Amino acid sequence: MTSAASQIESQTESLTITRPDDWHVHLRDNPLLPHTVAATAATFARAIVMPNLAPPVTTVELAEGYYQRIVQALPTGMSFEPLMVLYLTADTSPQEIAAAAAHPHVHAVKLYPAGATTNSAYGVRDPDAIDHLYAALEENDLPLLMHGEVIDPAVDIFDRERVFIERHLLRIREKFPALRMVLEHITTGDAVQFVLSQPKNTAATITPQHLMLNRNDLLAGGIRPHNYCLPILKRRTHQEALRQVITTNDARFFLGTDSAPHAQHAKETACGCAGCYSAPAALAFYATVFEECGALQHLEAFASHHGPDFYRLPRNTETVTLVRQPQTIPEAVDAYGTRIIPWQAGGTIPWSLA
Ligand SMILES: [Zn+2]
Repeated sequence: MTSAASQIESQTESLTITRPDDWHVHLRDNPLLPHTVAATAATFARAIVMPNLAPPVTTVELAEGYYQRIVQALPTGMSFEPLMVLYLTADTSPQEIAAAAAHPHVHAVKLYPAGATTNSAYGVRDPDAIDHLYAALEENDLPLLMHGEVIDPAVDIFDRERVFIERHLLRIREKFPALRMVLEHITTGDAVQFVLSQPKNTAATITPQHLMLNRNDLLAGGIRPHNYCLPILKRRTHQEALRQVITTNDARFFLGTDSAPHAQHAKETACGCAGCYSAPAALAFYATVFEECGALQHLEAFASHHGPDFYRLPRNTETVTLVRQPQTIPEAVDAYGTRIIPWQAGGTIPWSLA
């Protein structure tokens, strides 16, 4: 072995990067918060915290209350900053959006098409009927985060992301060119192409499960409820499109786990909930897939640079270190009395957080 080759090999035995942020996470609420906040804060300095509680976080006042509960749940000695998000409804006022933009703890609003996913019943029925709110977001320069799926029952569940882009997103994007928008947890080559066709103020987050799995991992050889999430896993060609785009180091794509814990009994049942609980090993999952794609050198930018640059926040100054040390995902975790099956439970991945 040449010295250059051995140097590369020894370099990749460990990887020290700027401490990352999670730009899409579900921390839920008490009594789960002490567990979920600690699990995310163990890796991530900040996180965009999804507002789909029951009832949802629809006002600045509710967002501030949620912020305080998260901060109170943070274990002593850990550092973590929750970045709050308002849940957009047809009744949201432009004044509330202006107040959110001025509030130091609120960083975005989230559009859920009504009924698209967990606790989204209060969401927007018609994304084309709230242009006055997009105008307010654009005017106040507050990012719009989207669960980009149509809810039309006539549209096949595997096509709902593509149809959302065609039916709504292209029009919204064109009418509000200065609006910063994030298409969350993208799952298709169509979404990749949409983002790539747009200016830099259009971004997307990508989850570990959509990079590592396709719908065979959900449906072939038996239903795997712990791989069930929304948007649903797609066919392999779409997975390949996501895996390809992370190798390009394009600043419009960044880390968002969509880690979304449910109790075991709510996942393993006749009508199971959508969501993968990936937070405890999230960065190691991303390291695994970036290495598989030959893109480990781009992990830091994806995890730690592109997100804060888009949100116009400073990059973190601390670092974290990943080591090539296999870790086996626990079969279950006890979150203060709630039994949760973590995503990839029982599986082993090659990287660990030092
Ligand atoms: Zn989500």
